Amino acid sequence: MRLDDERRNRLERNTKALAVETDARRQYDIAFQILSDCRALHLPVTQVLTVATAVQPVVPPVPSGSFICPECNRSFNSHHALCGHMSAHRK
Ligand SMILES: [Zn+2]
Repeated sequence: MRLDDERRNRLERNTKALAVETDARRQYDIAFQILSDCRALHLPVTQVLTVATAVQPVVPPVPSGSFICPECNRSFNSHHALCGHMSAHRK
């Protein structure tokens, strides 16, 4: 999907930017953007943010390995569970 490609590219750029960024406030903004993109793409946030947390612990806490619904912020243990839940929002 085209939108997902754009998000993935931005996610990659932001993750790299976060690794070299030195200003804490700017790091937080980038980390927040990464978090939003992860949620939009249904990626396991903690996996992608390994780089971010290694640089500085400014990332909002996320339960290990969780998949978070962008609609209502509920977390799930698997992508399958999240997708099943997401169908409830499409009615
Ligand atoms: Zn939901």
